[in-house]
Amino acid sequence: MQNIAIIGAGMSGLSAAHALMGRARVTVFDKSRGVSGRMSTRYAGDYEFDHGAQYFTVKSSEFMSVVNRAMAQGHIAPWAARAKYLKSGLMQEDTGGARFVATPRMNSWAKALADPLSVKLGARVKTLQRAKDNRWTLIFEDGRAIKGFDGVVCSVPPRQALDLLPKEFSKRAALKRAQMDVCFAVMLGLSEPIETGWDTLRVNDLPVNWLAFNSSKPGRAKAPTLMIQSAPEWSNTHAETDRDWVQRVMTEVASELVGADLSKAPHHALHRWLYAAVSQGLNQTHLFDSDLNIAACGDWCVGGRVEGAFLSGLSAGHCFNLKT
Ligand SMILES: Cc1cc2nc3c(=O)[nH]c(=O)nc-3n(C[C@H](O)[C@H](O)[C@H](O)COP(=O)(O)OP(=O)(O)OC[C@H]3O[C@@H](n4cnc5c(N)ncnc54)[C@H](O)[C@@H]3O)c2cc1C
Repeated sequence: MQNIAIIGAGMSGLSAAHALMGRARVTVFDKSRGVSGRMSTRYAGDYEFDHGAQYFTVKSSEFMSVVNRAMAQGHIAPWAARAKYLKSGLMQEDTGGARFVATPRMNSWAKALADPLSVKLGARVKTLQRAKDNRWTLIFEDGRAIKGFDGVVCSVPPRQALDLLPKEFSKRAALKRAQMDVCFAVMLGLSEPIETGWDTLRVNDLPVNWLAFNSSKPGRAKAPTLMIQSAPEWSNTHAETDRDWVQRVMTEVASELVGADLSKAPHHALHRWLYAAVSQGLNQTHLFDSDLNIAACGDWCVGGRVEGAFLSGLSAGHCFNLKT
């Protein structure tokens, strides 16, 4: 059996690992302390925040069957959110397809997917080196090296993939084409629920573009929480601006929108996602260099979002010729 390394334990890396499972020996490496990547959850005392992906939709029948299976196992549930859209001063229903969330937290589905896999956490891959037998050695930031991989799936955002993949990787131009926006996430733990008439609010033309009462999702902790996300253009402009200022501006705008002074919330935190959402995708399922036996995948291949990440990983997992 061939030995395949997967770099990144987000949705695309885990989906690639499942596509390869049973056909190859698979090891997944992630720099973080937990799996799930941008589908992650932050904890602060009784408060919990899905501070990356908020929910996901399902368009393809392929993803629907995976979601149905995960729902039957209790890892996913529909989120019947009261969703509103404030456009040009008018409050409207925020229509769209059914919304799904992992339960009881956004990272729960990724944890379930990782369960049968060999996953090494706290393992930041710095680079890859090819040995004389053409196999790949993974070199980690802390100086460790693990050798003997016949193939590699790199499922990290494109800018990070450019840094760690070898110069000979023939798809570097495509990696450079893919672009991602920054996003700030403000996490507020509230002393009591605020009744606004909505669970999620989408807005335009402001520094923030999304608010959601995280505690309104199915299976969540009861302590009331509000997530605030910044708008892409504003976030890109202020990527390096003082974090206190960013948090203050976002909290002030959100206070106006909910009609309460959120600066008094007992818990405040800010997270910056440097590669949050895809602004320019590739319109192709994955990248594969068959000479090097290296694939690259992620939401940035097929238009972003959880479904895109899953489908990209799936096709990357199936691109290897595993006959030996
Ligand atoms: C704030 C925010 C809100 C979002 N809202 C939604 C939404 O409402 N609906 C939706 O569908 N999608 C949403 N998304 C997008 C969704 O989260 C992503 O599309 C999806 O999770 C991407 O999965 P991925 O596997 O491609 O990448 P990631 O989840 O980013 O996984 C990449 C993994 O690689 C690891 N990694 C990176 N570099 C290295 C390295 N050198 N060595 C080892 N490991 C490494 C990272 O730790 C990470 O775990 C949102 C994202 C953000 C940030």
